[in-house]
Amino acid sequence: MRATILNAPYDISLQEVPDPVIEAPTDAIVKVVASCVCGSDLWSYRGVNKVPEPRQIGHEFVGIVHEVGADVKSVRVGEFVVGPFFYSDNTCPNCRAGFTSVCVNVGGYTGCQAEYVRVPLADGTLLATPDFPSPEQVPDLLTLSDVMATGWHAAVSAGVKPGMTVVVVGDGAVGLCGVLAASELGAGRIIAMSRHAARQELARQFGATDIVVERGDDGVAAIHDMTSGIGADATLECVGTDASMRQAIASTRAGGTVGFVGVPHGIKVPVGEMFTRNVGLVGGAAPVRYYLPGLMQRVWAGKLQPGKVFDLTLPLSEVAEAYKAMDERRAIKVLLES
Ligand SMILES: [Zn+2]
Repeated sequence: MRATILNAPYDISLQEVPDPVIEAPTDAIVKVVASCVCGSDLWSYRGVNKVPEPRQIGHEFVGIVHEVGADVKSVRVGEFVVGPFFYSDNTCPNCRAGFTSVCVNVGGYTGCQAEYVRVPLADGTLLATPDFPSPEQVPDLLTLSDVMATGWHAAVSAGVKPGMTVVVVGDGAVGLCGVLAASELGAGRIIAMSRHAARQELARQFGATDIVVERGDDGVAAIHDMTSGIGADATLECVGTDASMRQAIASTRAGGTVGFVGVPHGIKVPVGEMFTRNVGLVGGAAPVRYYLPGLMQRVWAGKLQPGKVFDLTLPLSEVAEAYKAMDERRAIKVLLES
């Protein structure tokens, strides 16, 4: 089969690799229908995360079950499935507590920007759609593999409740899905921090009531101006840098909570400020599998259309261009058709 290989920083190509095979009776092989490039893939693409040797890449996919191991019970060959970005057993104490991303048997895939992927612990990982989806539903379903579930986790972690004022830091696909999640959870006012016209427009479509273009101290000052000097009830940190985390914490009211889902890079949490103002920090890697049934129901009912975050669709053969477009911020998120 053909699979995406990250050879070295800024060097991505589609190459022929051996087809994945069932290695354990709990495995499934999924024929990938669509995958996508994640903001977190760019950390490796840019060489911020070291890439000592060429490797397959990609952790978001939807597809059709191609083959199952002898012990797989919950999905059948031919079913359309969504795959969370980690695999999990969905039975251990962490999974039962709602943290499938911290499953005692958690793991990552070999690489999903490919024609086929081997899914370990298929019963605890994959979720089949109620019926075979239409092509128009595929982008919405694909976001449930990561970005929509991650934005949802930011909003849930921040404790978003009806009527709240919510700030969203980060206008990537996760931040935009965070806006959508806050809206779905009933936030009264949603302030998206973005300086890109196309992203501002999508944020408004997803439910943002206000846009703040300033960043850093100026961004915080703008939030305080808009909230009578108090700050937001809940803030979603969807970037993962020190600057974005400081901005998120400083934008939050006394007693408010920051839900953080940006993969942290070089963050020094200002515990003193959090202590003084009683600001909480909750979040981490999203337990996608835990949220998947509820989110799939919302998407299937047409209540949520997070697939709008895909503003570029390319064939898998143009994966190198997909990474370039994401890296140069020409695209919010690129869908790859296998
Ligand atoms: Zn588990």
